[in-house]
Amino acid sequence: MQLPREVIVGNGTIEYAAEISRRLGFAKSALIVAGSKTFDIAGKTVKELLEKDGLEVNTFLVESATVKDVEAVEEKIRALKPQAVFGVGGGTKIDVAKLSSARQEIPFISVPTAASHDGIVSPLSSVKGLGKPYSVMAQAPIAIIADTNIIMQAPWRFAVSGCSDIIAKFTAVKDWKLAHEEKGEYIGGYAASLALMSATLVMKNANLIKPKNEEGLRVLLEALISCGVSMSIAGSSRPCSGSEHLFSHALDMIKPNCALHGEQCGVGTIMMAYLHRANWRRIRDTLKMIGAPTTARELNVENEDVVKALEMAATMRPERYTILNELNLTREACKRLAKTTEVI
Ligand SMILES: [Zn+2]
Repeated sequence: MQLPREVIVGNGTIEYAAEISRRLGFAKSALIVAGSKTFDIAGKTVKELLEKDGLEVNTFLVESATVKDVEAVEEKIRALKPQAVFGVGGGTKIDVAKLSSARQEIPFISVPTAASHDGIVSPLSSVKGLGKPYSVMAQAPIAIIADTNIIMQAPWRFAVSGCSDIIAKFTAVKDWKLAHEEKGEYIGGYAASLALMSATLVMKNANLIKPKNEEGLRVLLEALISCGVSMSIAGSSRPCSGSEHLFSHALDMIKPNCALHGEQCGVGTIMMAYLHRANWRRIRDTLKMIGAPTTARELNVENEDVVKALEMAATMRPERYTILNELNLTREACKRLAKTTEVI
């Protein structure tokens, strides 16, 4: 079990970057991995703070999250031998920083500039070119510095997407329990409860999730962190990624870059909750309330794309047993599911 040692969430927490670095024993050198925009938003500040504290700081800018980007950062790490890597960004930059530092066996500190999915705190990375549509094990961040003042400045849509990725744990945990009952798969009760608690917390506090409401953002960040910890405890994404994520991965293949990861998972959760005979209407209504997409149109895809994604979902990760394997839906049944839940 790999868990973060320092987690600070709040207004202006970026100011603690140097102090945390020193406390963790990184007083000599660091490498900052960021995008050009996120470097301006937060990377620069981290760099200045660390340099003021006497660290030698290098920066590496990436604009995408491919295997090539990861390898480029790895090369930089081998050349510079920094004590730690700071990943500063909304998702892709953190994914690259996390995987490259893990492969080079040096610690990683996460400095999210947006809260659009749980990858900002999880031990997994989603990188293109690995031949897998889903995320792979990397390492847990040794520290997380989540400055609400910075995250609040990101487009509101990102936070809504983050909430949808949390609500998705509702069906992810149901799928995990099903795999345990049907296939005897190992289930960690504590990890499952932690993920489920995050989903419940966001659902309960949905009224706080609105632009410029710091309290709502804190609920979201704490939920994201709990989900990251649940994956660290489970040693896989199992507690946080089930059939609703498989639907999102399939949609990524059919129509890439139409909607955000969390938005797609949210719509998937509505349909998978129906299959699990759970209260899918409550999930849909909560998503609607926070302003998240609940239909194909709102995801910017055609009705046919949703049906196709439902058909394909179970093949995305054959080893991950979910309600989709249990029911083995026909094309007609997929269509009916999307229609009944008013996604199409
Ligand atoms: Zn997710």
